[in-house]
Amino acid sequence: MSPKPPDIRAFSLEEMQALVADLGEKPYRAKQLWEWLWRKKARSFDDMSDLPKTFRARLAERTVLRPLVLVEEQRSNDGTVKCAFRTWDGHVVEGVLIPTPTRLTACISSQIGCSLSCSFCATGRLKRIRNLDAQEIYDQVVLIDGLAHKYYREGLTNIVYMGMGEPLLNYANTLRSAERITAEDGLGMSPRRITVSTAGIARMIRRLADDGARFNLALSLHAANDAKRDRIMPINEQNSLAELKDALRYYTRTARREVTFEYILLRGFNDSLADAQELVRYASDVHAKVNLIEYNPIDEGGFGRTDTKEAEVFQQYLDRKGIIARIRRSRGRDIDAACGQLANKNAPALKDGERVLKT
Ligand code: SF4
Repeated sequence: MSPKPPDIRAFSLEEMQALVADLGEKPYRAKQLWEWLWRKKARSFDDMSDLPKTFRARLAERTVLRPLVLVEEQRSNDGTVKCAFRTWDGHVVEGVLIPTPTRLTACISSQIGCSLSCSFCATGRLKRIRNLDAQEIYDQVVLIDGLAHKYYREGLTNIVYMGMGEPLLNYANTLRSAERITAEDGLGMSPRRITVSTAGIARMIRRLADDGARFNLALSLHAANDAKRDRIMPINEQNSLAELKDALRYYTRTARREVTFEYILLRGFNDSLADAQELVRYASDVHAKVNLIEYNPIDEGGFGRTDTKEAEVFQQYLDRKGIIARIRRSRGRDIDAACGQLANKNAPALKDGERVLKT
């Protein structure tokens, strides 16, 4: 059996130059090809109109180009657009376009499914199938940017790696995708507009700092004591809050970047005054800002949303104690907006009779 042809977007520029030489083409063709793949976002070799047809045909014999396909959109009354994307091997991942008065944010996935099984999360019900390649992560940004232009006549302003999967368990592809999103010969976005959100893996947070990561880091905290966090996030059993605190302090010192805590308010679980006091202590130690997030309940999740009034009381307590805290209203309540809901519902159905939507 002959080996499978490689994905051309997995090539470095040097590897592409070697391929171009091997195919007997002039060296400048490598740069042209690179531009088509990353800056001009070609979705097939046929798109590359200024490359000779014979060259394109030989490229197609030796490599594959397999972009992600947008297969379903759900548009909420509040303007949020949830998307299902199909990978070349038939899996479904999700991305969301979140409009606010000042931002157009893409929330993107880093893995198909997730191995971390957080109890409040629909994605946690899907087993981890595989990591997404850097180009599959990149494609989500390209396709959601297309939706931003279609619905809002403007491009994306922010990217958050906060969809399906744990980005730091797909470390190399997370970093490479962010590099391509920020590169001048890629999408050219500022790294300050990118936030990578982790469930909390201490050794990988240290590694990010050592590798000089330039994007923002968010920790999905959701409880500031180990007993509670263990109950909702099994990853906490190997990454205690004390270990995470050390890693986050190392990160803020080394990378000279601030950290944000994401804290989903779960009614009667983590929204009491005692919870707020613990959160204040923990956030103060790391000098972290806090995003309080209204929960989007999932079927059989066992958790409810904290009332708006109580969320405000919680936020005001943090504020009085000197912690910068904002409430993030839940978006897309009328659609399957919680992470993993759309993939959970539609994964088996999408291959047959799916609607392929173009942006
Ligand atoms: S919250 Fe994030 S880390 Fe936890 S199961 Fe869901 S996708 Fe995985």
